[in-house]
Amino acid sequence: MRYLSTRDRRTRFMPADAIVMGLARDGGLFVPEVLPRLSQNSLKSMCEMSYQQRTVFVITPFLEDFTASEIGSFATKAYNSESFDTPEIAPVRAIEPNTFFLELWHGPTSAFKDMALQMLPHFLITSLKKKLEKKNVCILVATSGDTGKAALEGFRDVDRTKIMVFYPRDGVSDIQKLQMVTQEGQNVGVCAVEGNFDDAQSGVKAIFSDADLRERLESKGFFLSSANSINWGRLLPQIVYYVSAYCDLVKEGRIFLGEQVHVCVPTGNFGNILAAYYAKKMGVPIGKLICASNSNNVLTDFISTGTYDKNRKFYTTISPSMDILISSNLERLLYDLSGHDDELVSWYMKKLAETGVYSVNPAIKSKLETYFWANYCDDEKTKLVIRAVFGKYNYLIDPHTAVAYDVLNHYRYKTGDTTPAIVASTASPYKFCDSVLDALGEDTRLSGLELIGRLSEVTGTTPPKPLLELKNKPVRFDKSVKKEYMINVVEDMLLK
Ligand SMILES: *Cc1c(COP(=O)(O)O)cnc(C)c1O
Repeated sequence: MRYLSTRDRRTRFMPADAIVMGLARDGGLFVPEVLPRLSQNSLKSMCEMSYQQRTVFVITPFLEDFTASEIGSFATKAYNSESFDTPEIAPVRAIEPNTFFLELWHGPTSAFKDMALQMLPHFLITSLKKKLEKKNVCILVATSGDTGKAALEGFRDVDRTKIMVFYPRDGVSDIQKLQMVTQEGQNVGVCAVEGNFDDAQSGVKAIFSDADLRERLESKGFFLSSANSINWGRLLPQIVYYVSAYCDLVKEGRIFLGEQVHVCVPTGNFGNILAAYYAKKMGVPIGKLICASNSNNVLTDFISTGTYDKNRKFYTTISPSMDILISSNLERLLYDLSGHDDELVSWYMKKLAETGVYSVNPAIKSKLETYFWANYCDDEKTKLVIRAVFGKYNYLIDPHTAVAYDVLNHYRYKTGDTTPAIVASTASPYKFCDSVLDALGEDTRLSGLELIGRLSEVTGTTPPKPLLELKNKPVRFDKSVKKEYMINVVEDMLLK
């Protein structure tokens, strides 16, 4: 299977090229030329497999230039009992006979980004070898929280890589910050930037486009790459858990093989829900894809009107990983829904860049309505949902997951459709202790680590081990710089 750019389908790329390049030269995203089919029989046989075996089964057809033994070793290295706290890796929990939470946060950093970022480094390193690339890679990340830590854990002590993460000094939670500044590993760096996430991100972009720096790095044997969610190597591992969840539900007798389930996803950059869309197109009996947003509801409006308009107020919410106005992975969906019309996609993306607005044609709009349903949930409601779910089911969820559960209920209420549904649970509630305690009506005037203990006391739940262990870890990175000096930080790390 080859890959094409969403903005130019004429050139075909091998998987290793798509992974190493990240973004196509024309600015488009890489997409597979065709989607492999999963027959009902393969779903049936996957019911008996482990998560690692299911991974191999699902991703192999996408990786034609990788050997079976490479792919097998990726799966066992990425998803093992050292980095995940449950052998099921991505377990499904039923809270009602027709409502299932797919817990995607049992990895080393307690957010669903681990599902992809535990895998990406293996894809990348093997791809470099295949391409006979001699240079080593330096991953640069600007993060608003979850991605930075997950990337650090994924790349720590990985051969031939260095990773540098920049986070906004005043823009991440206490726990997210502690997770990053105590990061272990010989090849990692973390630095605060004075300013907000946009400052960190524009600083990283400036470093990427600095030709002079690139030359100096090359002479020292490095090139720069990124670990953000537009890389195909991040999307592919996400398809697996939807297939796996379906198999688990069949295996447990909660649905019969072939029965439809809806999937509801708290959405930001549109990567996670796009993976569910691909799983559906590959043959998993998924019904509606329910797209849940917080007050930054640009996707709710897009899915109901066909007009994408990012010119709106930006809200800082208690589900910060969804505080996004440009959902990059939507471009891949447009490519698919337009019947692979690369010219049309280029035109929409040009309009988006120039005016912040585009409207899809009636054919795409009608497909959007067929596949998707969308709504949003604000912070007040999110807190009520956390409290209600805990009160009713004794099940604790984080703010992102609460947004999704609320939107699912909204969908059911509006349509009367009670088809079984999977809700993607994207973070451990312990990552957002202050908002969760607040939702439960508790005092939140404690420091980050005390909040963990308090939440555990109040709810009788057990915090993830890596978060508990933070209190014994020394701070390794206390540097904070102005945006203009980010480049010096990278040079210090690579050129010394
Ligand atoms: C990244 C993230 C999301 C959003 O996922 P996308 O793939 O960007 O749509 C939702 N919840 C949490 C906890 C996240 O870290």
